[in-house]
Amino acid sequence: MIRPFFYKPEGMSRRDFVREVTRWGTAIGLSPAVLQTLCAVRTVDAEDAVEITDVQDTPHEKAPVQLGANCIEVPKKYYDTVEKNAIRCYICARNCHLPEGKTCFCYTRTNRAGKLYSYAFNNPCTFIPDDPVEKGPFFHFMPETKTFSVAIAGCMLRCAYCQNWEIAQIRPTEAKNYKLDKKEVMARIKNMPVKSFTYTYTDPIAFFEWMMEMATHAKENKLKNLMVTSGYIREAPLKEACQVIDAFCITIKGFTEPFYEKVIGGRLQPVLRAIEVVKEQKKWLEIPYLIVPTYNDGMAEIKEMCKWVVKNCGTETPVHFARFKPSYKMKNLPEGAIKVLENARKVGLDCGLKFVYIANVPGHAGNNTLCPNCKKVVINRVGFKVIDELDGRGEVIKPRALDILMQRNGACKFCGKKVPGVWV
Ligand code: SF4
Ligand code: SF4
Repeated sequence: MIRPFFYKPEGMSRRDFVREVTRWGTAIGLSPAVLQTLCAVRTVDAEDAVEITDVQDTPHEKAPVQLGANCIEVPKKYYDTVEKNAIRCYICARNCHLPEGKTCFCYTRTNRAGKLYSYAFNNPCTFIPDDPVEKGPFFHFMPETKTFSVAIAGCMLRCAYCQNWEIAQIRPTEAKNYKLDKKEVMARIKNMPVKSFTYTYTDPIAFFEWMMEMATHAKENKLKNLMVTSGYIREAPLKEACQVIDAFCITIKGFTEPFYEKVIGGRLQPVLRAIEVVKEQKKWLEIPYLIVPTYNDGMAEIKEMCKWVVKNCGTETPVHFARFKPSYKMKNLPEGAIKVLENARKVGLDCGLKFVYIANVPGHAGNNTLCPNCKKVVINRVGFKVIDELDGRGEVIKPRALDILMQRNGACKFCGKKVPGVWV
């Protein structure tokens, strides 16, 4: 295949890449300014990659955190105390070895005298009491309902494009927080039409202990719980979460280990295992895939991912291809091309997936839910918002196909075929 001279093959370091661009560019008479632009196309590379090590003395390590009011001892089932009061943590797939006095990679846990403490408890930095549930994205779970979205600062991954890095890449002690325990949260939503809680914006695995407390309380109060996560979690805590979480959004960030190593600072395999566990536990699951230009946008890679989803999760699992917006350490990349998203959607449909969405492109036909049988639109959306169905003269058609879906537990208004999902 003919490649442009600025194509960078896998395995080539950025230094070599820049050298090649310069050599070829000079040879064909490009100006230094143009060469500089081309060299900036890739912003994260093996040389910048997040090192996957045990936690101690990572570049992110800072002064020890003081144990304070928002500290809670992590249940002993999630860690072992090993030699010299060090701790081996079993919450996320990183499995940190945490020497005494150190704060961990996820910014939220610390080892004091051989005991593990979380200081992500009752101190959310963000909450939105009336978020659309579609923001997850959850497109087949109680559509058009309001959810209480909440996050505590911290994350155990280092996605180079993280949209929420201002809260995900700091400690809870560095964030501007609210003081909210489970009862205060319930009091806030007392007269609101909230149907669920969504643990999101950072990764709830970093505030797992508080999520479990909140979710248990919400379930006792007959509210649903939704978890939006990278899935970078070990099996035992995930199975425990499945007892209180009703639906999961687990992002597959790319479908190669090198991508996870270089851009995410983690590994793909534990994420795939987490997805399998969620399916085994029969929980509702939706899978976003953010297409990062030049990094995970190859159609062969996307096809492998879709085939894996079909085989392991079934054709009825919604997959959302999301448009890239330059952010954090990847500001030099262009915005994602809509054509690439459309190609990915076609690949997903050709693989047999029945619900393949295009996200972050409001108004695109790929926002809508189609009946898998008659292919008519059963949920009209613009972005996260469900909109009315209009006839040719601009009149609202009633009842909407969505209303019928809700009333008849997912039955399509036009052909009666059941659309998979959780409908209320
Ligand atoms: S949750 Fe993950 S990152 Fe945090 S201490 Fe445990 S293993 Fe390390
Ligand atoms: S997992 Fe989510 S919150 Fe954490 S760094 Fe990646 S994108 Fe940001």
